[in-house]
Amino acid sequence: MTNQSSKRYKRPNKAGAPVLRLDGKAVADARRKVLQDKIAQFTQTRQRKPGLAVVIVGQDPASQVYVKSKVKTTTEVGMLSKHIELPETTSQADLQKLIQQLNEDKTIDGILVQLPLPKHIDTTTIVETIKPEKDPDGLTTGNLGLLMAGRKRVAPCTPQGVMKILEHYNLDPKGKNVVVVGRSNIVGKPMAQLMLDADATVTIAHSQTKNLKQHTKQADIVVVAAGKPQFLGADDFNENAIVIDVGIHRTQDNKVTGDVRFKELNVRAATPVPGGVGPMTIQMLMENTLALAELT
Ligand code: NAD
Repeated sequence: MTNQSSKRYKRPNKAGAPVLRLDGKAVADARRKVLQDKIAQFTQTRQRKPGLAVVIVGQDPASQVYVKSKVKTTTEVGMLSKHIELPETTSQADLQKLIQQLNEDKTIDGILVQLPLPKHIDTTTIVETIKPEKDPDGLTTGNLGLLMAGRKRVAPCTPQGVMKILEHYNLDPKGKNVVVVGRSNIVGKPMAQLMLDADATVTIAHSQTKNLKQHTKQADIVVVAAGKPQFLGADDFNENAIVIDVGIHRTQDNKVTGDVRFKELNVRAATPVPGGVGPMTIQMLMENTLALAELT
């Protein structure tokens, strides 16, 4: 793939070069075309479409938007989409029963339960009810364990998307000092593991890390997933750094922003928000679903 679609900002960093804008939307679009062809091929060979079931419990507005977008993309890429909406009052037992049915459904290759779930439902139990072979989010301990053991089935979508952005722009983490800010199971930990697998030297920073700047400032690549709007800026990175902003936040005036103050950066390359990591997450969900279907 080429990086011709990348846009360059005129703002120079201290080294005098423009900041390369890592355009996750363009990377996702390019990968989508390839994926559509692969899905068409799968459908022809297997005489069935790969299938993704998306389950949402309750009316959380942000979750509704995410689910709508996932369902739309699933259909657009040529997969079978099963969209199941359940009321906020759904019991844990009923949700588990539904997942068990989907586990046995031969038309379904991936089951995604949109998080967060209502407070009366235990998220861990629900995620673990999904068969790892049908977990395109890569969040079950079955899949996280394989990732840790170096026998990846599918990796969680967001960190996997970050790796694909770097790959697209030929930014190889091998031998680089990488700092991952955040240690969640969904982003930080699998991100660190994928970087390790790519031969980077990895530091994981978190809420109890002392003097964060001391770590980020010396890093070649910084992945920021702290979940804190506009948290880090120009001062926190060196001029040759690659900055990946995973954060997504909606401001009071309904704009989308990240964990990083993108506009002030003087670095080698950075992902914007929106248009950076976000579009890649959904693309990876589609790619992971096909990967699971191909394993059947
Ligand atoms: P989380 O709240 O589970 O984890 C945040 C992590 O940041 C924690 O491990 C915490 O220790 C660390 N942290 C908090 N304050 C810190 C500080 N001051 N210094 C260093 N570390 C600190 O969040 P998450 O689920 O990992 O998501 C992180 C962000 O990424 C959120 O903004 C979320 O919305 C976003 N996100 C985006 C996508 C996407 O598709 N782009 C996907 C998942 C999450």
